[in-house]
Formats: sequence, C-alpha cells, structure tokens
Amino acid sequence: MNECQICGRQASGSGTVEGARVPLCYNCSRYAPNFSVYKEYRPVEKKEIIKPDVVVKRNYSKLIREVREKQGLDRKHFAAKLQIQETELTAFEEGRIKPTIEEAKTLGYALGINLLEEEVDEEPVKTTKIGSATLGDFIKIKKKN
Ligand SMILES: [Zn+2]
Repeated sequence: MNECQICGRQASGSGTVEGARVPLCYNCSRYAPNFSVYKEYRPVEKKEIIKPDVVVKRNYSKLIREVREKQGLDRKHFAAKLQIQETELTAFEEGRIKPTIEEAKTLGYALGINLLEEEVDEEPVKTTKIGSATLGDFIKIKKKN
C-alpha cells in the first residue's frame, strides 16, 4: 500500500512535489498541481448492468459548490441545511463521492437546482451492449449442446 509522502495516510494518487513524483492522499493532493488519482480509485460505473434513465450530472460537484458560495454559506452550515454530514458534503463538492439518484434528487430539491440529466448514449455503453449480446449467444450455443 502506498503512503502519502506528506502526511503518511493511505495515498489515493500521485503527483509531483518538489520535482519528484510521489504518492499523495486527497488532502495533500493540493500541493501537487498535476495530481492524478490511481486507477483503482476511479468510479467503475461501466460495470453497472441496469442503466437508469437519468444520471447525476457530471459537474455535480461544481454545481453544489457554486450554489453554496452563492448563498454565502460555509460547508458546516450548508451541510446542516441539507441535513447531511459535513464530510459528505465535502466529498460531493470535491467530486470524490457521487450522490445516488435519490440523493441527487433530494440535494437538487434543497438547493433549487437540477442535479440530474438524461443519460446520453456513449461509446462505452455500446461496448457493454455488444458484450452482453455475445454472452447471450454463447449461452444459447451452450444449451444446444
Ligand atoms: Zn497526505
């Protein structure tokens, strides 16, 4: 396991600090402008088989933060207003945790903004569909034998 070279906690990615690329946690990632998250920490949404019709907007973290700043509230008071934990709000604002559809609905309602959008068909989704069709054909072949 990689440890953050600044504070010693579990590293979430790596970035360049004082000329050397070192493991860093999220908190210390601000010291490295080119910080990048390790692959295994990225969300793995492509694995989802059942696709909802709506998805949480990609820029949800920015939207949440913008509304909070517009209202002139700090995270503590804003989280209290939304009836969520401050740590949770921070994670949403930093894009570390993506709200579920239900959470995004509740948040959006409380904020007076829409955090959901209709799903757009993209390349990776098509790949998944082809993949499952192939699997279906494979099962059919297997049953015949
Ligand atoms: Zn750290």
